[in-house]
Amino acid sequence: MNKIIRQYHIPRKRYGQNFLINQYIIDRIVSAINPMQNQAMVEIGPGLGALTKNIVNQISPITVIEIDRDLADQLARNPLIKKKVNILKQDAMTVDFYKLSCRLGQMLRIFGNLPYNISTPLIFHLFNYIPVIIDLHLMLQKEVVNRLVATPNNKNYGRLTIMTQYYCQVIPLMEVPPKAFRPVPNVNSSLVRLIPHKIIPYPVKDILLLRNITKSALNQRRKKVRNSLGHMFTTKQLTLIGIDPDQRAENISIESYCKLTNWLCEQK
Ligand code: SAM
Repeated sequence: MNKIIRQYHIPRKRYGQNFLINQYIIDRIVSAINPMQNQAMVEIGPGLGALTKNIVNQISPITVIEIDRDLADQLARNPLIKKKVNILKQDAMTVDFYKLSCRLGQMLRIFGNLPYNISTPLIFHLFNYIPVIIDLHLMLQKEVVNRLVATPNNKNYGRLTIMTQYYCQVIPLMEVPPKAFRPVPNVNSSLVRLIPHKIIPYPVKDILLLRNITKSALNQRRKKVRNSLGHMFTTKQLTLIGIDPDQRAENISIESYCKLTNWLCEQK
């Protein structure tokens, strides 16, 4: 398989190209995604089509978004795939998923073995479109999945944790070893399922403010919040909201960050 990749495509590091080559793993991923006919399946970064081929065997058409024009052109020529995919030759960071959902006439099921170098900004981009997303199945660096599922008092708990769990239920599905890819990455990978909450558990009135508060607090995660959030809240105000000013940012729950956000909104 390695030979086939080399024959057709020299992997580009800048696009985070590590292609899945293990059919057993590919089958397990596809079965975890569980695509169904008449659903709007959208793949980010189809690459050489490892997942795409197996999904279009079960349902078609699907939409794929590929930034690398050479790979997109190869998919467009591939006899097993070409009639079964709508190809967007585009950076997924620039895709308006509201428009895509509107065009497809339904909500989206998004999946992809994401390029590691942009997985976090891409996840944040996808969160802008939560109302039109049914679910997300993402292959990520294992460390990133550890951050998605983390709880307070854990070293992996951070801004990505809070924003992800604000919007979604997070279900880690399987670990994938480096040898399942070519070229072999020097990190372990994990597949995770994100299901947007039907009802947001702790809704905030201003999501940008939540982002700003968590950014200020968790950039200095070991500092006491009386210091890291001192430019936004007085010690007295923190106490009034029910937050111990001597707590560190990494110990504060998502619910408390949402409380802080709504309290500040009400003062404006
Ligand atoms: N899905 C294939 C597989 O599993 O073998 C390829 C996965 S590879 C890790 C990531 C893919 O995402 C590559 O095809 C790469 O060109 C593409 N990609 C990288 N950055 C992208 C972006 N910003 N938008 C869309 N595709 C991107």
